[in-house]
Amino acid sequence: MKINKFKVTGSDGFKLSDFSTKDTLGFESRESVQEALEKNILEIAELQSKLYAEGKTAVLIIFQAMDAAGKDGAINHVMRGVNTQGVDVHSFKQPSAEELSHDYLWRAVKALPERGKIGIFNRSYYEDVLIVKVHKLYEKLNVPDRCKDKDVIKRRYKQIKQFEDYLWENGIVTVKFFLNISKETQRKRFLERIDNKDKNWKFSDADIKERQFWDDYQEAYQSAIAATSTERSPWYIIPADKKWFSRALISNVLLEVMRDIDPKYPTISAKQEEMLKDSKKKLTKEE
Ligand code: ATP
Ligand code: MG
Repeated sequence: MKINKFKVTGSDGFKLSDFSTKDTLGFESRESVQEALEKNILEIAELQSKLYAEGKTAVLIIFQAMDAAGKDGAINHVMRGVNTQGVDVHSFKQPSAEELSHDYLWRAVKALPERGKIGIFNRSYYEDVLIVKVHKLYEKLNVPDRCKDKDVIKRRYKQIKQFEDYLWENGIVTVKFFLNISKETQRKRFLERIDNKDKNWKFSDADIKERQFWDDYQEAYQSAIAATSTERSPWYIIPADKKWFSRALISNVLLEVMRDIDPKYPTISAKQEEMLKDSKKKLTKEE
């Protein structure tokens, strides 16, 4: 799949509105990508097992989206082949009182994956330049005035960019997905959640409230993505009106990220090899 079409590595000319929500690269159905998806999932699992054994690099995968874009489903599907030992999923909700008494990156830092692991952020510190920007929540923070003037969001873009550079320089590879749905798709999915009893639990009236700020969110995503896309920590704008396509595309991107890391099972030294031979001899004798 041509994943570069969806990759953003800098602010130059980036316009979210140029990105389609319904692109499927010409694929016409779930079936047409199923085989590739399964193959990707297997290969990702294999590479993850090497990543874990090697224990050098960590991978941080960030999912951001409007409600009902399919974050949870995408995470479950794409990671389903991977050994649960090697993956941690962390959801970022409204900050608790304790979290609010710290700087906004604190809770994210605590949740960062250790070397050898894949950490998935279902929402992330990007909320602190998205919902926080849309509703000016920073005004309510108990911080010195200089920390919540009108430039606070701009400063946070800079901080996030520096933070992600810091991660890279310390062996943590970051990849960011924005699941891009249309307003109409969100409307349909909300209606489905209301009409289908088994999906009622997924619906909250807060979702309708946030939907009214759709344009403000698009603007906030536009600015945040433009300001924080880099070669090292790119954003991928995933067309998400068709869930089957977004999952296949995400699996392709992850596979590329893992291949680039190119983890290897550790090899053993001559001394260790000698030790293994010796142990084998002893164990065989016992028979
Ligand atoms: P789902 O709806 O699929 O269960 P979700 O990620 O939308 O998943 P919710 O519990 O519905 O989870 O919503 C979490 C809410 O918390 C979102 O509206 C998000 O914007 C909000 N949130 C996350 N981080 C922050 C933050 N730092 N400040 C304020 N609100 C935040
Ligand atoms: Mg929600």
